[in-house]
Amino acid sequence: MDADPIPTFAGASPNDLDALWMPFTANRSFKQAPRMLGRAEGMFYWTPDGREVLDATSGLWCVNAGHGRPEIADAIARTARTLDYAPPFQMGHPLMFQAASRLAEVTPPGLDRIFFTNSGSESADTALKIALAYHRARGEAGRIRLIGRERGYHGINFGGLSVGGIGANRRGFGPLLGNVDHLPHTHDPSRNGFSRGLPAHGAEGADALEHLVALHGADTIAAVIVEPMAGSAGVLPPPVGYLKRLRELCDRHGILLIFDEVITGFGRVGAAFAAERWGVVPDLLTMAKGLTNAAVPMGAVAASETIYRTVVENAPPGIELFHGYTYSGHPLACAAAIATLDIHRDENLAARARASERAWEDAVHSLRDRPNVIDIRNVGLVAGIELRPRDGKPTERAARIMQRCFDDGLLIRTTADIIALSPPLVIETAHIDRIVSTLGDAITAEAA
Ligand code: PMP
Repeated sequence: MDADPIPTFAGASPNDLDALWMPFTANRSFKQAPRMLGRAEGMFYWTPDGREVLDATSGLWCVNAGHGRPEIADAIARTARTLDYAPPFQMGHPLMFQAASRLAEVTPPGLDRIFFTNSGSESADTALKIALAYHRARGEAGRIRLIGRERGYHGINFGGLSVGGIGANRRGFGPLLGNVDHLPHTHDPSRNGFSRGLPAHGAEGADALEHLVALHGADTIAAVIVEPMAGSAGVLPPPVGYLKRLRELCDRHGILLIFDEVITGFGRVGAAFAAERWGVVPDLLTMAKGLTNAAVPMGAVAASETIYRTVVENAPPGIELFHGYTYSGHPLACAAAIATLDIHRDENLAARARASERAWEDAVHSLRDRPNVIDIRNVGLVAGIELRPRDGKPTERAARIMQRCFDDGLLIRTTADIIALSPPLVIETAHIDRIVSTLGDAITAEAA
C-alpha cells in the first residue's frame, strides 16, 4: 500500500501563521522563520518540502517506540470507528479497564490502581489531589503541605507549577498554591562534572526534608514530588542513593512519595520506569508521553493499593474522589496505550535502551572537548550537554545550535544553555554517530 502523500506546502500562509498562538515558543521570531514538520517514520521527521530530519528528542521525550507505528495507528482508527467516545463518569468501556490492567502489569509492584488523565500536567495535579485525599481519609486532614524540588518540572497547571521549581515558568502567575516548599536541586557540577550514569555525590541532599519536617512538623506534610531524573530543567540524574534516602525519610515521617515519571517512564532510562531501574518504589507515580507513544494525548497516575483502599473504603458512601476529566480513559487513547504496551513488550524496548546505553554514553561524552561545553551527563537514552553561560546568564548559543542542527537535518532540544537529547529507543549505531557528528559540528561552528 502506498504511503499517504506528504503535505506539499513549503510553508504556511501568512494568515495561518497569524491565527496560532504557539506554546512555549518565541512566537514572533518563530513566525519569521517557521520550522515545520510534515511527516514522521521510525527515527525521522521530514519537513513539508521533503527534507529528512533525524529525531534526537523523540518528539518531546515521548515517541519512545519510534514514529509512525502502524500498530498504534490501526488501533486508533479501529476504535474511532467502533467507539468514538464514552463518558468516564458513572460509565465504563472495556478498553479503559484493559488499558489500566495492562499498564498495572508494567508499573512497579504494588502500584496497581490506575487513574487516567490526558497529560503530564494533569497527572501531576491528580497525584497531588490524591495525596491530600489519602491523608484526609486517614483522619490526618492537617497534612496539606506539598513539597517539590528546585528545578523540578511537573507541568504547567497550577498544582504542578506550584511544586515545580523552574522560576521562569512560575513568575508572573501570582502566589500559586500556599503550603508548598522545595527541596534543593541535586546538581553539583563541582563534584559531579561530566558524570557518566548517576553522579557519585549528593545523596545527602535528600536530608533537606528533615529540615522541613523540623520546621513545619511531619503532621502538616502530605507528599514530596520529584522527577527521579529531572528532565526539562536540563537532565539531572539523581545522585547514587538519593532516591532511596528520600524514600526512607518519607516512610519515617508518614509522607507520601510521588515520582513524576512523565519523561523517565516507558523505557527511557533503560527500565520500564526509573523506580525499577533505581530500586525505589514511590506511593504514586505519574506518567504521560510514552504511554501512547504520543500518538494521542494520555496521562495516568498509578497509586498504591493502600492509597486506593484508604480513599475508597474510608469515604462516605457515594463518590470517593471528586476529580476527573471528560477525556479520562478516552477510547482512542486507551487503544493507543494498549498497542504501545504491546510494542514495548514484544520488542523489549527498555532492555534495548539499556543495551544501547554504553555506546550512547561514549558517543555523547566524545563531545566534551568541543568549545564552550562545560558539562555532559547521561543515563539510559538521555543526555544533557551544558554550555558555558556568559556573565552567569544564559546565552542564545544553544538556540542557535538548535537552528543549525535543524538546518543540517537533526532535531535537538534546548533550554537556556542546555542541550537535551532523548532519541527513540529503537536507535541504531549509525543514528548515534550522525547525532554526535552533526551536533559536534554545530557546537564548533557556533564558537567560530
Ligand atoms: N512532568 C514532567 C516530568 C514533564 O517532563 C512534563 C512535560 N515535559 C510534564 C510533567 C507535563 O506534561 P504535559 O506537557 O503533557 O502536560
